[in-house]
Amino acid sequence: VIKGRTAIVTGSTSGIGLACARAFAGAGANIVLNGMGGAADVEKERLAIESEFAVKAIYSPADMAKPSEIAGLIALGEATFGAVDILVNNAGVQHVSPIEEFPLEKWDAVIAINLSAAFHAIRAAVPGMKKRGWGRIITTASAHSRVASPFKSAYVAAKHGIAGLTKTVALELARSKITCNCISPGYVWTPLVERQIPNTMNARKMRRDEVISDVLLAAQPTKEFVTVEQVASLALFLCSDEAAQITGANLAIDGGWTAA
Ligand code: NAD
Repeated sequence: VIKGRTAIVTGSTSGIGLACARAFAGAGANIVLNGMGGAADVEKERLAIESEFAVKAIYSPADMAKPSEIAGLIALGEATFGAVDILVNNAGVQHVSPIEEFPLEKWDAVIAINLSAAFHAIRAAVPGMKKRGWGRIITTASAHSRVASPFKSAYVAAKHGIAGLTKTVALELARSKITCNCISPGYVWTPLVERQIPNTMNARKMRRDEVISDVLLAAQPTKEFVTVEQVASLALFLCSDEAAQITGANLAIDGGWTAA
């Protein structure tokens, strides 16, 4: 069903986004990659997608903190492939700090990249989806769209915001054959998780192994990390005809975290 369609995946140079891009390419979609990273590494991933899956893939370095670059990303997808059928808002950053010391610029950056970027991208992509009468909007939220953890005020606020944005957009587009959902993973083993370990060690005065067992997997009843491929499979399912009536949902994939 997505063969020949076009998918933009923000933050797809790494982790969950890259796995989504590869899963969509595997199903025959053309891909717009986006995110930070060394030019050579990004080009390697882009070429790998094109050769492994026989689709077209382009890359945009658009900064998801900048509304004009986000609009430019959607325009690039439409200009290159004639359509943006699938939008995955996935770029995200984390900052871990007690509220009274939380740096103002970190608050602004987390809200811009994790929340406002989805608004700007959806706003720019919807007119084309409406015109063509088909669309899938998926945002990578988090278990932190449902529950909180200390020291993550900006991230938790942004992800709760995504859940509300998702529901609102789903209602607005309910008669337009465009679904809008978010996926809420628990802890997925990616560079984003690995990078927050040192700050959490400081904030909680813990060793690395204690952070992994007592903080990260403490909340996850299965005691296993989610894999990026598992998240990507759910995103791909949301693009299917079978998922046409799933809209406005916040789908947990968290090893039981938010069941507790
Ligand atoms: P990651 O660090 O591996 O990937 C993040 C991606 O976002 C990278 O491609 C990075 O270059 C990109 N990015 C960051 N800032 C950007 C900017 N300003 N403009 C454009 N791209 C930017 O992390 P990940 O774990 O794969 O995270 C992907 C999403 O999943 C995030 O929204 C994150 O909040 C969410 N998430 C992750 C976990 C987890 O445990 N890893 C759990 C729940 C939700």
